[in-house]
Amino acid sequence: MAIKRVWIEEGCIVCNACETTCPEVFNVTEDSCHIRSEVREDGAQDTNEPTKSPLKGAIGGDLADQIQEAAEGCPVEVIKFENA
Ligand code: SF4
Repeated sequence: MAIKRVWIEEGCIVCNACETTCPEVFNVTEDSCHIRSEVREDGAQDTNEPTKSPLKGAIGGDLADQIQEAAEGCPVEVIKFENA
């Protein structure tokens, strides 16, 4: 299974759990978690909630397990993703 896109909905409590699980994709800032620009096709860095930019290249396949684990471990369930 590969993941096509991942984003953060409103309500992140900046607990850092996702960045610990998958630092390649998640970057926790002062007010929310962001999806790193390096892994996004659009090269932007934000929650990716409004644009839902796809993940770049093979990242969604290579890191699928870690992204899913981070989503399952989010205490407020705001990490959302869509399979390819
Ligand atoms: S695990 Fe969830 S609440 Fe914690 S920083 Fe990541 S997105 Fe935010």
